[in-house]
Amino acid sequence: MPITEILSKPLLEKEDIKTLLAAKGEDKKLLLDKALQTKLAYLDNHVHLRGLIEYSNICTKYCLYCGVRCKNIKVTRYQLTDEEVMECAQLAYKLGYGSVALQSGERSDKTFIDKITYLVQEIKKIGNGSLGITLSLGEQTEETYRRWFEAGAHRYLLRIESSNEDLYYKIHPRDAKHDFHQRLACIDSLLKIGYQTGTGVMVGLPFQTLDDLADDLLFFKEKDVAMVGMGPFIPHPDTPLYQYADQIPSAQERMELTLKMIAVLRLMMPEINMVAATANQTVDPQGREKAILAGANVIMPNLTPNEFRENYLIYPDKACVNDKPDECHSCLDIRLAAIGHKVLYNAWGDSVAFTKKHS
Ligand code: SAM
Ligand code: SF4
Repeated sequence: MPITEILSKPLLEKEDIKTLLAAKGEDKKLLLDKALQTKLAYLDNHVHLRGLIEYSNICTKYCLYCGVRCKNIKVTRYQLTDEEVMECAQLAYKLGYGSVALQSGERSDKTFIDKITYLVQEIKKIGNGSLGITLSLGEQTEETYRRWFEAGAHRYLLRIESSNEDLYYKIHPRDAKHDFHQRLACIDSLLKIGYQTGTGVMVGLPFQTLDDLADDLLFFKEKDVAMVGMGPFIPHPDTPLYQYADQIPSAQERMELTLKMIAVLRLMMPEINMVAATANQTVDPQGREKAILAGANVIMPNLTPNEFRENYLIYPDKACVNDKPDECHSCLDIRLAAIGHKVLYNAWGDSVAFTKKHS
């Protein structure tokens, strides 16, 4: 079927999705154009910001792809102090970001849970609840998710990483700590509690096929999530998955595939929030802008104090590790204006899909 015919279908089926993900040349351009037009029609040219606070790289898990996995003894571990977190949040408020995202390695001990509860409550006090709060703190019990929700967090990002159970266990150890069904159950708990729930996958993983990626997109749609974050997989030399680094698509191909994933999902779910992940920019200096032009509408500028950033290297050569938050801020405005987009300051920037569903 010609690509124009697929692009005019009201509902994309798996075979259509696979055809779109394989699109090259003029066909790929048609897909990206249609995704951009769809985004502009539903969400305008607005970009929402989440000031990213990389709270701690202390993690109890050892995902096979991640540079901060607990078994990587080369990493110097850190945890920001309460004051450091609050300074980041104050900066987000001052810069008009509207929201912060607190991300961390996964821990589920009481000290950690209490600390996050406290920090969420404190951040909420800034400007009388001015800042939206996204958490990305891994798998927790439903009770913990509920506690943080009641403390004031209203969005949660937990990537499924791959919706194919077999592939999931090729990129995670097959043990109780990395249980695929547990991860699915966590996403269901978040949805049930009422979080704007975000999930996502890495693109270009070893053993990953177009069939897997099409299923990932259908999984997001089936779960009816409010947000999605997808970025290229970037092999880290100090992780077990690095042994397959020469068997995966090139960085450029992983980037192109990520853009097509974003574009197809924008057609399937026109009103969700989609993040232009930092991994895009790491692979391609224009990667974030390209993701925005392919249909993404959220950027997460890094607010983590510079001295800690080099210890949060989930993958090597991470973009913006040396940028100062203020510089990053003006650089973003200029970069987005150059592609006809603009930051919507001082707004939470909630997912339109979520807001409509719950109004
Ligand atoms: N610990 C939490 C979790 O796993 O959900 C949040 C932090 S974790 C570092 C955030 C995301 O980083 C993961 O969901 C994963 O998709 C991504 N990530 C980790 N290693 C990566 C790599 N080598 N390349 C690209 N993305 C990676
Ligand atoms: Fe820990 Fe998250 Fe990295 Fe897995 S992806 S090792 S849970 S920080």
